[in-house]
Amino acid sequence: MPQRMPYVGGNWKMNTDLAGATALAEAVAAGAANLLSACQVVVCPPLTYLQAVGKALEGSAILLGAQNFHHQPSGAFTGEVSCSMLKDLGVGVVLCGHSERRHVMGEGDVLINAKVLAALEAGLQIILCIGEKIEQREAGQTDAVNAGQLAYGLAGVKPEQLARVTIAYEPVWAIGTGKTATPIDAQNAHRAIRNEIRHSFGDAAADAIRIQYGGSVKPGNAGELFSQPDIDGGLIGGASLKAGDFLAIVRAAAETGNA
Ligand code: PEP
Repeated sequence: MPQRMPYVGGNWKMNTDLAGATALAEAVAAGAANLLSACQVVVCPPLTYLQAVGKALEGSAILLGAQNFHHQPSGAFTGEVSCSMLKDLGVGVVLCGHSERRHVMGEGDVLINAKVLAALEAGLQIILCIGEKIEQREAGQTDAVNAGQLAYGLAGVKPEQLARVTIAYEPVWAIGTGKTATPIDAQNAHRAIRNEIRHSFGDAAADAIRIQYGGSVKPGNAGELFSQPDIDGGLIGGASLKAGDFLAIVRAAAETGNA
């Protein structure tokens, strides 16, 4: 059985304010201190609070993540920030392909792939989010949609870069809705995703890559989801805004993950 340390991410989206973001980071850092040997943790605050949250996380092994960035290194891209700008703030991880960027902000596969490649070239870790919409699920297309988003997203990624890639399987219909895939449905999707990685990158890469589940994960359902053999933790939206809930989810991952 491969050893994969569980990995839990908090995606704060466009929430918190400066004081709230700092307090949340401090509470998570304090509460997670004795869990980080069994579970890796990243928090992704709004871009404007990265610096303050980074400071609040000083001395903690919790990683600082960014929700968004531009794939070009610099230039006339009004309103955007580059990977190197994020690195200046201590960011080590970036989200790519989140469903809100795909389906609300209109990012397509080509742009997502450009962002994946740029982040990896810059030395960052990425969490590549994939997942089907409800009508695709009802049409039996879940695995095909995931395989397509994976193939596009990872096109051109070098085998040695894959160690800095995590996949987050996030069925779009489960994000922020209170609906969650059953542990068995999620496990089936995760196994199919791992098999796609096996096909493209080989056994060692497939056994090593971590695949998070995302979509209305809460303290009450995290343990059952994370104990599935191909689920290596979660990407958490709403529940990551309450330190107690997020820490309970991290604890569930530390206790029931595949490490
Ligand atoms: C997310 O934003 O990645 C997410 C999974 O959100 P939520 O946990 O709120 O469904």
